[in-house]
Amino acid sequence: MKLDSVNYYSLEADQKYMSVSQFEAFAHGCEAAAYRRYVTGEDKSEESTALRVGSYVHSYFESPEAHTAFCEENKELIMTKTGKLRTDFEKANQAIKAAENCPAFMFFMEGEREQIFTAKWLGVNWKIRCDVINHQKKYLVDLKYVKSLSQHDWMTVYRDEQGNYSRIQSEQLSTPKNIKVPFHIIWNYWQRMAIYQAILLAATGEVYRPIIAGISKEEPPDIKILDMHNPEALEAEVSQVAELLPRVLDIRKGKVKPTNCNNCASCRQQMRQQGKCEILTAEPFVL
Ligand SMILES: [Zn+2]
Repeated sequence: MKLDSVNYYSLEADQKYMSVSQFEAFAHGCEAAAYRRYVTGEDKSEESTALRVGSYVHSYFESPEAHTAFCEENKELIMTKTGKLRTDFEKANQAIKAAENCPAFMFFMEGEREQIFTAKWLGVNWKIRCDVINHQKKYLVDLKYVKSLSQHDWMTVYRDEQGNYSRIQSEQLSTPKNIKVPFHIIWNYWQRMAIYQAILLAATGEVYRPIIAGISKEEPPDIKILDMHNPEALEAEVSQVAELLPRVLDIRKGKVKPTNCNNCASCRQQMRQQGKCEILTAEPFVL
């Protein structure tokens, strides 16, 4: 299957190729929801408005044609009945303007847009789509339009008594603890960038420097360029992907039954359809 901008996000493409989003959905999200979305296709959850606003900003930086096409397809979401831009999109326009006004940001926007790469890595075929890739200067840029680039947010990690911790719960690292971390940790961007870099290396034989070009939804918008060139951090993420991937592949092949988290929208939907509910033992309150 040859991937292009039309079929890239199709169920068929997701069944044939692993992607960063699919891997994350299985490895860090709800396995059952990921299975219903990427394998059987029975879960066709609508994109949230926040995601669509992100796509609006992405399409602007992709090309005028892509932006016009996006606006046409999403007219009702973007415009009010009286033909005015809805607040979220008006704010996105301000953010776009602010970014365009910033020469350093625009410097990193130079390169090929939305290029697709496929490669076999860790025994499975992967697909990636790069927001911006500069083949001369050897960097790739992921464009992010997020709530804040500076405020820290809560994330649950699992730890042991020695103080070791991981975002994945295991027998050794089992005690949950909530800590405040910056946006690129919350969104697991080290892992995303590590996978991008590995696929690009497998596809082109070249090492690309991963960079995040961030714009915040704050007023006025914040703009930051985040250099993710840290071989040690990226290598650690690659090891984690290699560790988590076999279970993901077994679930995908139907060899292992995916676990329902019972909390996500997909699981709640399933339980409502089946008329089921969870019966739990209340946890004591311990600080
Ligand atoms: Zn779930």
